[in-house]
Amino acid sequence: MKIGVPRGLYFYVYYPMWYGFFKSLGHDVVLSVPTNKDILNLGVSNAVDDICISVKVYHGHVKYLLDKRNVDYVFVPRVVSEDKYRYTCPKLAAMPDLIKSAFNKDSERILSVNMYMNQGKKPLLDAFGKIGEKLGASVKSVKKAVKEAMGYQEKAVKCLRKGHNFAEIVKNIRNLDKLFDEPVKERRYNVALAGFPYDIYDGYMNGDVIKHLEEANVRVVITDMLNPKLYKHYTKYMIKDLFWHQANVAAKGGMYYMDSKDIDGVITVSSFNCGIGAIYEKLLDLYSKETNKPLMHIVVDEQTGDAGLVTRIEAFIDLIRVKRGDGLVAS
Ligand code: SF4
Repeated sequence: MKIGVPRGLYFYVYYPMWYGFFKSLGHDVVLSVPTNKDILNLGVSNAVDDICISVKVYHGHVKYLLDKRNVDYVFVPRVVSEDKYRYTCPKLAAMPDLIKSAFNKDSERILSVNMYMNQGKKPLLDAFGKIGEKLGASVKSVKKAVKEAMGYQEKAVKCLRKGHNFAEIVKNIRNLDKLFDEPVKERRYNVALAGFPYDIYDGYMNGDVIKHLEEANVRVVITDMLNPKLYKHYTKYMIKDLFWHQANVAAKGGMYYMDSKDIDGVITVSSFNCGIGAIYEKLLDLYSKETNKPLMHIVVDEQTGDAGLVTRIEAFIDLIRVKRGDGLVAS
């Protein structure tokens, strides 16, 4: 069977696991194309009006797979939590319902299950067991597929920890061992991106921030590359950890990078209308005042023009160049 996987939201965290699972069961995994104008338009016209752009774009990817790629199913998991007592945004938790309601006539083709991540093997076995049952797989083959799925995810995390970004992981999904062995390119400057992976890695939405930084001799590190043990003690301005797992990664990981001597500056990337983004951005604002590290917020929505973003990214690069004594952008 052909299983469509939309290139949005938790794709940018758990794709290796999903790929490993469906491949092991002998299915074809069909990805939607990277976000482009058509995908965005499809999303905007099919999603409810007052929702963040990340969710709108996701609708566009689902619609593309349903209409253009002739898939049997589109996989739209409900990622409920990513750690014990750390949940996802309510919009993410409601994703299968939003999608089924937007594409009512295709709702039978939406393959969905509740997923509780990073809480041991049992919740994953239960979730994947339900999907396997729907796809007609035996219990034995599901168990084997779950093992392979976890293997893919572990290898992807190892690549991230080494400094390879998730876009590289997607490109090298068939050979993550080889990617792991490849050296990470050093550059003159180092900038950290803090935020939700789907906002950071969707270049169409964020003015291609990674590409523009790399072209200016900047090595880009991202909060998803960090081992959580490195930043778990960053609790300043928080009475306790935030309720949402990805917000903790962005806030605490961003603070860790602000304290890192080799990091020249930090950029956050978030969706307009995202209340959770506003919280971690504020926390990082407060912390940047103490560390005096350059900090810039990129907030995107469907009206954000690429030109404006590029100008801001270039100005940020100029700022770190001046701070390092290198003057303004070299010709
Ligand atoms: S956390 Fe923010 S960006 Fe993500 S789905 Fe929720 S509202 Fe949208």
